[in-house]
Amino acid sequence: MSSLVALVGTWAVGCSEPSAQEAVTADPLVDLVSVVDHAGDSLPTFTREELLGRFDPAAHPDFRSVPAAWTDKEEIYLRAEVLEAYGRMKEAAQADGIALLVRSATRNFDYQRGIWERKWERPQYMGWQAVDKARDILTYSAMPGASRHHWGTDIDLNSFENDWFESGEGAAVYAWLTAHAGDYGFHQVYDDKSTGRAGYELERWHWSYLPIAGPMLAAFNAKVGLSDLTDAPFSGAETADSLRVLSDFVNGVDLPAAYRNTER
Ligand SMILES: [Zn+2]
Repeated sequence: MSSLVALVGTWAVGCSEPSAQEAVTADPLVDLVSVVDHAGDSLPTFTREELLGRFDPAAHPDFRSVPAAWTDKEEIYLRAEVLEAYGRMKEAAQADGIALLVRSATRNFDYQRGIWERKWERPQYMGWQAVDKARDILTYSAMPGASRHHWGTDIDLNSFENDWFESGEGAAVYAWLTAHAGDYGFHQVYDDKSTGRAGYELERWHWSYLPIAGPMLAAFNAKVGLSDLTDAPFSGAETADSLRVLSDFVNGVDLPAAYRNTER
């Protein structure tokens, strides 16, 4: 049985100055059930609608607009604490001569469905079975309802090409992020799979703010069921079961040890 990644760690979500180290204080052997019980006491309640991206970030009181100078997109949003942490990281990077650019931030269910449905209609998929189409799209794109971008905690930086991060400016950006992003709470969850995780391929651009995304994954695992995906209104939703979207994709992330737990 593959390991189910569950989240233990910080519940200090309301704290405005979390560092990755301070945040990770819980016993890594705590099991998911007690984590969730504990979370119920001190975490803000993440609703199923939030976890599934079924809300408008522009109208959500916990979200803020990313400043226009920080992104090449118009009107994109992050949770306020994530934006604040990102601002500190961006400033520190800039002081080291590294320019960070937000290419994508919060994407709600409707937005993700737009991405998914455009790919679903690709001419190259003519005649393919639904499960094969979905598996192919899942190489890099999440099913609507199952994206970390729904949570307001995850950002895509600078380039959507892994190659860009391998030389010149891109290599400098990646080296800086690898060395320093953790100091601001950000972690590259889609690594090169050398750790044995399942799911999406390497994404050097995707960084996750774990002090909030950690508890949100635990909340997702506690509150969201398979039928929330398979019954959702998008093409191929029924394949979420056979493609193990919950265990292999939603939970197919690299996490620092203190954020991991192994199913027993
Ligand atoms: Zn991303």
